[in-house]
Amino acid sequence: MLATASKPHGGALVERILPAARARKLLERDIPRVEPPLEVSLDAEKICIGAYSPLTGFQGAGAVASILRRMELPGGLPWSIPIVFPWREDYPEAGEVLLTHGGAPFAIFHVKERFRLDPGRVAQAVYGTRDPQHPNVADLLSYGNRYAAGPVELLRRLPAAYGDTELSPRETRREFQKRGWETVVGYQTRNPPHRAHEYLQRCALELVDGLLVHPVVGKLKEGDWPARAIVRGYQRMMDALYPRERVLLSTLSIAMRYAGPKAAVHLAIVRKNYGCTHFIVGRDIAGVGRYYGPYDAHRIFEGLDLGIIPLRFREAFHCRGCGTTATDRTCGHPPEQRVEFSGTQIRAWLRSGQPVPPEAMRPEVVEVLREEMASPGP
Ligand SMILES: [Zn+2]
Repeated sequence: MLATASKPHGGALVERILPAARARKLLERDIPRVEPPLEVSLDAEKICIGAYSPLTGFQGAGAVASILRRMELPGGLPWSIPIVFPWREDYPEAGEVLLTHGGAPFAIFHVKERFRLDPGRVAQAVYGTRDPQHPNVADLLSYGNRYAAGPVELLRRLPAAYGDTELSPRETRREFQKRGWETVVGYQTRNPPHRAHEYLQRCALELVDGLLVHPVVGKLKEGDWPARAIVRGYQRMMDALYPRERVLLSTLSIAMRYAGPKAAVHLAIVRKNYGCTHFIVGRDIAGVGRYYGPYDAHRIFEGLDLGIIPLRFREAFHCRGCGTTATDRTCGHPPEQRVEFSGTQIRAWLRSGQPVPPEAMRPEVVEVLREEMASPGP
């Protein structure tokens, strides 16, 4: 048993990876094949490697109803976003199907239940809106209302979005153990690091043994940075600044759910499964547009026992008076002294070729991003 302080959600790490010989046998059989949308394939893989423990397959009508109504699995464990498989009209009506990615089979889906879902209702309950401009609501509406549920098993891992930095929950747990980390803070991101991100990470590192920087790279929205820019930006910053033995970078390929507070809970549970004991919740984590208040995601953790400790941070800024990064909890200067900056602002500076002040972003990271803008990576 891997001994980190954090137990997987539900108590045991789910692993549903078929041995190579059984996988080969399956492929010899004439099983109908289905190519799901990318975000669904990524979910299938995450179920099988335990990122969504205790789930062992795609969820059915009963589980979805429980999640939408009470934010719980039927057994009472907190769970905020249904993991479901939309079933298109033209898929074969088979009891088991091979799931393919780019035409190549990677998992087997044992269909035990078929059911219907009202996409508008799911959108309202999870994302708080039915607005088709919301990227995840747009996906939901495109699926129609037929779904299938049942266990999945993995034949092979999907290709990584970028590089070889994607560790499974078993692998991150092993790494934490090897390094002797008993407390680990998970950092959710979908951006290259700027100084406010760094500030939260440093504050957290003062409290715990290790930091897992865990950027989501699977499926982001239009306008987000590509995976390579995020990974390279972090690699450069971590090499330049952080003590190597206290930080770990690994990607997480899932579709980003821009569900504000419900996404914060979901992302915290996922990090618990990767072995984290703490989770950084910044301002407007997993938000998009103006659908969520900046601290809605802080409030949702109140009274919720997830088995991972949320570290809630106020928005960080550079203060001329303090001469450093701070928040309204640590700086007493008037607002005129504060220089607020955002990823969007930094991107605008980069795009127009303007200098990016070092108070906003480290020059090392700026250099990587200028290269990435000149020749965008995957
Ligand atoms: Zn100040």
